[in-house]
Amino acid sequence: MSRRKARPGPSAVRPSAPAVTAESPCPCGLDAPYGACCGRFHTGTGGTAPTAELLMRSRYSAFVVHDEAYLLRTWAPETRPGEVDFDPGLRWTGLEIEDTTEGTAFHQRGTVTFTARHVHDGEPGAMRERSRFARHEGAWVYVDGDVTG
Ligand SMILES: [Zn+2]
Repeated sequence: MSRRKARPGPSAVRPSAPAVTAESPCPCGLDAPYGACCGRFHTGTGGTAPTAELLMRSRYSAFVVHDEAYLLRTWAPETRPGEVDFDPGLRWTGLEIEDTTEGTAFHQRGTVTFTARHVHDGEPGAMRERSRFARHEGAWVYVDGDVTG
């Protein structure tokens, strides 16, 4: 009986979505554990995101942890898709907020410009977008965005 071939090393295995726990560093990049940062908005224990930027961060983190329900409920009804497709070959690796306009507790609208980095089938890439946010029944929701490179 021949010996089994050695399994391929970790570098040959496609990375899967990282297991994010409440104690993990938040995927959105703020210096806080996930449970105390975006996770509290995903579970609802922290209420709703108070600013457009925090909503943007929490939606990015929802893409990382594949929280479809959160993405749909924070999408404006007029632009909300029926479902969110998570590309199994895509892994989000970081978020940088570059600019915001309005979007605070005192506003009804706001924009957030960001770059989100990813690895797609092993190839690093980035997406830059200026997203528009508005309030729906008092809570911030994502309306749409312009991809800027
Ligand atoms: Zn976060």
